Parts: sequence; C-alpha cells; structure tokens
Amino acid sequence: MNNKLTIALSKGRIFKDTMPLLNQMGIEAVDDPETSRKLILDTNKPEVKLVILRASDVPTYVGYGAADVGVAGKDVLMEYSGDSLYEPLDLQIAKCKMMVAGPVNYKPGSGRLRIATKYVESARRYYAEQGKQVEIIKLYGSMELAPIVGLSDLIVDLVDTGNTLKANGLEPMEHIADISSRLVVNKASMKMKNDTIKQFINAMTDAVNNG
Ligand code: AMP
Repeated sequence: MNNKLTIALSKGRIFKDTMPLLNQMGIEAVDDPETSRKLILDTNKPEVKLVILRASDVPTYVGYGAADVGVAGKDVLMEYSGDSLYEPLDLQIAKCKMMVAGPVNYKPGSGRLRIATKYVESARRYYAEQGKQVEIIKLYGSMELAPIVGLSDLIVDLVDTGNTLKANGLEPMEHIADISSRLVVNKASMKMKNDTIKQFINAMTDAVNNG
C-alpha cells in the first residue's frame, strides 16, 4: 500500500498554527521554514513530507495532486475555482472575518460603487447576491490605502482585531464570511490512498478537538 503523504502548507500564520496540530498527531518538521530555504521539508516520519508554498498556491498543488492534503484559509478557498478538492475539516485556526470596510462616516454617493480588493471572486459573489452592480478593482495588498487616496469607495479585506482599519481611518461595515483555515484533500488521493488519508483526517480531527 502507498502510505506516502505530502502535506502542503504556507509559511507564517498557517505554518505556525498547523504545526502544533501535526505535533499532536506525532508529526514533527525536521527544518523550520522560517529559517530554512528548503521548500520540501522532511519530518520525523519518513513517509510524510511537507511542501512550503505561497498561501494562494496551496489549493492548486492539492487540486492537481502534487500534494495529497493541505491547509488553506477559507479566504483562499473562496477564490479558488477548481473542483478537485474535498474540504473535510475546519481546523479552527487563523480565524478572522472577511468584511466590507470603508472610511469612518462613509456616505454612499450616487454612482456605481468602487470596491478595491484582493478577493475579487468573493466580492463579486457578495455584491451579485445583493443585486448590486459594483466595479471591482483587483489589488495585491495594502487595500486600506485605496479609499484614502480615492482609488475606491470601499474595500473587501480580512479583519482580525480591526486595528489596521482603524489606523487608516477606516471601519468595518458589512460581514461577508467567517474565515478559518481548512484541511483540503485531493479527491484522487482520497481514492488511491484511502486508508492513509482517512487515518490522517481522523487524527487531525482528534487534534483539533483536543487542542
Ligand atoms: P487586524 O489589524 O488585526 O484587523 O488584521 C488585519 C490585517 O491582518 C489585514 O491586513 C489582514 O489581511 C491580515 N489578517 C488578519 N487575520 C488574518 C488571517 N486569519 N489570515 C490572513 N490574514 C489575516
């Protein structure tokens, strides 16, 4: 039986919050991705490897089966359009909210709203569900700047404490979605390595519930 398992993670918040769960499952990383330049990390289990990716690439690697399982934020998954992933478990980590935010005391004008965001698909769906026609402007970061300099009326961004918005004269206005990190599984791996992956999901479920 093929019991090899490749786990896709991203650096930073997701790695930091996922490792304690993997540790509880008896999986320890041999290198630290924050200090190592390696993109494939060995673990104490010869059959388990970690691949360290950009957060938004995790669904793609898992979707194509280059990794069997992965951890991705719901924000990233909401932007991903593939259908080759299962999302069996909410890891209850890296929690925040996806929100519409705007200048404090914002008053809507008469024209079409301009929304700056990295989360184009999520924003498009949100406004389409409300039957509102908006112009969405794709940005890759520092969304908070857009309303200040008049690039957009509002933004769609992730909010945790709200401090970043506040520091830039903005405030949260509408809730779009609760965000947390999810375990994703390649559908073909689930079939081909059913025992290994089922065991992995069960062990991770226990780790989440005991954490
Ligand atoms: P805060 O100032 O605590 O509201 O944090 C907001 C900033 O942190 C925004 O720039 C977000 O993009 C980022 N952020 C907060 N929570 C998360 C999360 N769970 N995952 C990714 N980015 C986050």
